[in-house]
Amino acid sequence: MHSISPTIPRFSNNHSIHLRRYNRPFLSHPLPPPLPPRHRTTKILRLRCTIGTSAINTAQPFTYESKISDRIAKSKTLKIAIVGFGNFGQFLAKTLVRQGHTILAHSRTDYSDIAADIGVSYYYNADDLCEEHPDVILLCTSVLSTEKVLRSLPLERLKRSTLFVDVLSVKEFAKELFLRILPSDFDILCTHPMFGPESGKHSWEGLPFMYDKVRIGSNESSVLRCENFHEAFSKAGCIMKEMTCDEHDQYAAGSQFITHTVLRILEKLDLGSTPINTKAYERLLDLVENTSSDSFELYYGLFMYNKNAMQQLERLELAFESLKKELSDQLHEVMKMQLFQTKDRHLGVLQEPRALLKLPTNGNEHALSPRSTSDII
Ligand code: NAP
Repeated sequence: MHSISPTIPRFSNNHSIHLRRYNRPFLSHPLPPPLPPRHRTTKILRLRCTIGTSAINTAQPFTYESKISDRIAKSKTLKIAIVGFGNFGQFLAKTLVRQGHTILAHSRTDYSDIAADIGVSYYYNADDLCEEHPDVILLCTSVLSTEKVLRSLPLERLKRSTLFVDVLSVKEFAKELFLRILPSDFDILCTHPMFGPESGKHSWEGLPFMYDKVRIGSNESSVLRCENFHEAFSKAGCIMKEMTCDEHDQYAAGSQFITHTVLRILEKLDLGSTPINTKAYERLLDLVENTSSDSFELYYGLFMYNKNAMQQLERLELAFESLKKELSDQLHEVMKMQLFQTKDRHLGVLQEPRALLKLPTNGNEHALSPRSTSDII
């Protein structure tokens, strides 16, 4: 039994698991056709019990690993396990299935019916999912639950080299988590598809896909596996944007977080359609509706786990106060003229409306343009 351990040093105290893992593909009898997920656990358990260990097994891990490498190198399709099969996980699965990838899924909630409709094999049990040895684990969990879910996965049941990908809307947090929790043999790709089930409903053409190859092995199979995963998005028409997780978080706080915040503020106003809607207002109503289909947890994650978000929230507040002040200053001018009967008086109209003040993009977030710094405080 111990002769196997050198090939899998990472989990040296789990030999029995590895034996099960490496033996299964070498059963002398072909496996029966896949059963409905509900029956799968019992069947697999029964198969495991019938497997004994023999000397020939000692050579098999090498053969198995090399077979897997060959398969990845030759085939562009991947076996992808989606962990977190909610709104976004299901959305990604539909396109990945259409592209010919084999998609497995696992989630806290029972999504077996939805999975069956999409063509995804659903696993109630994370052990069973990992025993399927996916090429890729694609984490689509909420930002807040990701650490808990990641820690609950039986990593020792996976292939020694598995590619971990996340789609979290905050990237430094995901990267740090992966590096901290995953064994060093696992590859890590942090991504953020900059679209969702609404904006990407009809097509992914022209939509940005951010990625950071945090840790991809230099061997051929690792490189190809990562490329094949990328291709799922590039072939669907995404604009591939490579950048660091840190850069992503800076951009996203100033764009995505601001968008979600403004739309959530508007949502609170409970805006409705009027008989005289302008085109701009119609678009605004659509945007507010789209945002309301995202969970609050997602929005909260954008705030909590992006260190740049608080600064943007403060800027937004400052901009709102500044705008209000500009309006009241103008009003004040008019009233002053009326009250003191100045000779240049034009009732209700200012001679030179002041240009809108802008906050600086970066740096001192509490300062307005120089001429108005004193006004704002
Ligand atoms: P979400 O509310 O952020 O996440 C829902 C997912 O998290 C579900 O799979 C849910 O599992 C799982 N989950 C939540 N709490 C859990 C817990 N305590 N334990 C275990 N699992 C838990 O909504 P989402 O839109 O599906 O987003 C998923 C991920 O994709 C997020 O990280 C988000 O940042 C990212 N993302 C979303 C979009 C988008 O437009 N929606 C776009 C790009 C990236 P169950 O359903 O089984 O409860």
